[in-house]
Amino acid sequence: MVSKPRMQCPLCNERLERDADIEEHLLSQHEPRELASEIASEWEAEEFAGTE
Ligand SMILES: [Zn+2]
Repeated sequence: MVSKPRMQCPLCNERLERDADIEEHLLSQHEPRELASEIASEWEAEEFAGTE
């Protein structure tokens, strides 16, 4: 039986329960602004890495 890898929240680095829904964690634990800035910074990091 294959077990799903544990998810880790990219914002607070909290390990989520195996059956936890990361979306639910994000929505209940973090502000939309936090999510947006996290996504934006990841996007920027990727863009930056690609310009080498
Ligand atoms: Zn979190």
